[in-house]
Amino acid sequence: MNSPGDSIDDIISLLNKHYHPNSSQYQRQKPSIGSAMLPQIKQQLNVLSTIPNSQYNNQDKFKRKATSLNRQQQQKTQTKDTGSFATPMTRCLTFKPYSGSVDIIINDVGYYYKFGSSPIKLVKGLLEENGFKESNDKNWTLYWSSCAIKSEVYTNLFAYQKVCHFPKSYEMTRKDLMHRNISKMQINHGFINFNFIPKTYILPTEMSYFLEEHEKIKNNTPVYICKPHASSQGKGIFITDKIQDILNKQNSNNSYVVSHYIDKPLLINNLKFDLRIYVAISCINPLRIYVYQDGLARFATEAYNPDSIKQNRFVHLTNYSVNKDSPNFVANQDPTLDYVGSKWSLLALREYLKLNKINEQQIFDRIEDLIIKTIISVESTIFQTCEMNVPFRSNCFSLFGFDVLVDQLLKPWLLEVNFSPSLNIDAPLDLKIKGEMLADLFTLIGIVPLDQRFSQDLSYVRNQNNNDFKKHQQEFEKYIIKETEEELKRSRGWKRLYPSDQSYRYTKYFESDRPLNALLRNYYK
Ligand code: ADP
Repeated sequence: MNSPGDSIDDIISLLNKHYHPNSSQYQRQKPSIGSAMLPQIKQQLNVLSTIPNSQYNNQDKFKRKATSLNRQQQQKTQTKDTGSFATPMTRCLTFKPYSGSVDIIINDVGYYYKFGSSPIKLVKGLLEENGFKESNDKNWTLYWSSCAIKSEVYTNLFAYQKVCHFPKSYEMTRKDLMHRNISKMQINHGFINFNFIPKTYILPTEMSYFLEEHEKIKNNTPVYICKPHASSQGKGIFITDKIQDILNKQNSNNSYVVSHYIDKPLLINNLKFDLRIYVAISCINPLRIYVYQDGLARFATEAYNPDSIKQNRFVHLTNYSVNKDSPNFVANQDPTLDYVGSKWSLLALREYLKLNKINEQQIFDRIEDLIIKTIISVESTIFQTCEMNVPFRSNCFSLFGFDVLVDQLLKPWLLEVNFSPSLNIDAPLDLKIKGEMLADLFTLIGIVPLDQRFSQDLSYVRNQNNNDFKKHQQEFEKYIIKETEEELKRSRGWKRLYPSDQSYRYTKYFESDRPLNALLRNYYK
């Protein structure tokens, strides 16, 4: 065992060997971890966290990183807690929003990010302005990808590493799967409680059911909107009241999602609009869901006319990617000006609705309800996949873009959930909203300072046997409550939706009442 004066490298490598549940050493030595090794490791880490910065200075490269980090952290971090083993880490990085400055000088402070897809300018810029460097090896803290993450990335995670998707979240973000999951909830828990998606058919699989249902209502000339099942940005979408148009598509070999068209949308200045709501899941066990207070309202660019069904995508589709090509598109060049252009901030929209005596609170209460229910519809699948493939409770978080259309009765309809909401910066308003949202997201999820990477994390309890779990149970429950409370303190622009004092209302919708959800439900009751 190392002595207190040994290098951080040695201790981290020791911890890697013994703490990582997938390491072969861990497997072999597992029985001794909970007892003999832990006090020694704890002692090492406590000693480490009390070494003054000056002592790091004359040591190796890794320690220099730690020193400059500590200096930076003095401005950035919240209070430090070197308390008991059961105390969650309270020193998490606080991110400042991306300023968009061109020349970023990155001092190597020991934080690394890695992209699993092509780099996204906003994510890269924000991380680099906050002291992160790109990593090409495995020594990264944050993994960002616009695509699904490979299973080997999950299985090899260390406790301090964060990846930006939960496995199987596509169950909620693929149009056909979202529809299937919500429909299942409608059947199991009452249509009325999950009546927030337009009635939808997945073709060709549900063709006979679709034709049967159409037959019943055909005298009212129903209008349908047809979308390729795994597409985005309005690509391939058409709107029709002619059943033949839909049947023709059957021959194209593509799978289509056909929904009833919501033909009485709430209008502003006679224009249709939809809402981009940012939603985060910071943890699946216990489930913690947040909604961002700001977001975007995206306007169509030609006056709404329900009779002009086929002619014009600029009337019926509210996608930015569609409307930016319209001659009527107005870019908002000044994010401090409200109610301007084809894209507004969500806060400006709420203010506008309030000024016009529209009950916006009711709209947003309903939106929050549909967010929680949509996530519960996939909770079990994600939970079980994490149990099998993700080593630590703290490894995954997710950012989703919920697209919501509000009708004239002020009822919000969920159109789709985006797996990787656009973080493109096409206007100063995007930079403001997405930049702040992302900085607040990284702050919320709790990125661990280097010197605390392996300390004080009870996530491993999940991997221990039952006796160990019982022994630690009380301590573990205290840890979970503290972790949850501390996360809330870091939430800034994110509003926590679940857990809350209303959690009990949702218990019946879960496939299984997880002990940690019950713990927090009782705590906040
Ligand atoms: P994509 O992923 O291709 O953007 P969406 O499901 O978001 O597809 O639909 C694109 C746009 O079409 C939405 O922004 C909205 O304006 C409109 N839209 C989608 N579904 C409906 C619907 N059921 N009723 C009315 N408008 C809809």
